[in-house]
Amino acid sequence: MALAVLSMIRNYTENEWISDDFLLQPIWDYLRLEMGNFCRSPLFPVVISVTFYFVLNLPFMIMDIMGESWPRIYKYKIQQKPVKLGKMKEAIVCSLQNQVLFVLPAAIYQWLFRPPISLSVQAPSVAEFVLGLLGNMLIFDFQYYWWHRLHHNYRFLYKYVHKLHHEHNSPCSWTTQYVTGCELVAVGIFANLNPLILNQHFLTTHVAILMNIYVSVEAHTGYDFPWSMASVSPFNLWGGAPTHDMHHQKPLTNFQPFFTYLDNIFGTSSDAAHCESRDPLKKQKIILATSN
Ligand SMILES: [Zn+2]
Ligand SMILES: [Zn+2]
Repeated sequence: MALAVLSMIRNYTENEWISDDFLLQPIWDYLRLEMGNFCRSPLFPVVISVTFYFVLNLPFMIMDIMGESWPRIYKYKIQQKPVKLGKMKEAIVCSLQNQVLFVLPAAIYQWLFRPPISLSVQAPSVAEFVLGLLGNMLIFDFQYYWWHRLHHNYRFLYKYVHKLHHEHNSPCSWTTQYVTGCELVAVGIFANLNPLILNQHFLTTHVAILMNIYVSVEAHTGYDFPWSMASVSPFNLWGGAPTHDMHHQKPLTNFQPFFTYLDNIFGTSSDAAHCESRDPLKKQKIILATSN
């Protein structure tokens, strides 16, 4: 019986409608053959990341500027108050400064010292691609949870590395990169190193990097749309904008950037009454660290 089921599954996956050749190989062939020189360039990851980040922010910026005059959109705003345009402007300026001071030198370094890479002929299988994206997000999420918690728990780290990001207690999409250079570098290392650790295909690697940017921006938009990741994910596995918005309101909770399981396990979820239940001396220390 079991063998019959396995045989059926194998036959089904060999069906041309869902075969790997049908899904990813044509896309990969197009990129490799038509845009190969651009893809091989050491500047490719930087160019697509920066472009994607700025383009992705544009619709949310328009929504924020229109605010209450677009009630059909505004009703999804988590904190029902208009975005302060001054805050938005300082976040855009900070993003641009970070690109010039940190991303551009990294791009020039790659351009000068990293040789163009070769592109394999074979596309990744669908399973490899999907599991690769999921693996990337799980690892980044785990790394950032501990990095984030550490930077809220130690006064020095909070003050000099992470505090800037918390100047926005009502975030907008541009808040995503309203961060110090140290934080940008840490996040950049996690996001770019994980696909190498997982030895992923070029296509999976770069879609994972873009996906990371998308979910990070979505978490900061301040909107809880019915089609957003948190709304469509089952069992509240994905935190997204609602939980990260709460982190900006209550900085001692919801350290996980994407998922929710670590905050639930370690009692750092905003739903957990961890502030009341933890060691009062430690709690006081954290409050002092995050309020200076
Ligand atoms: Zn944030
Ligand atoms: Zn934080």
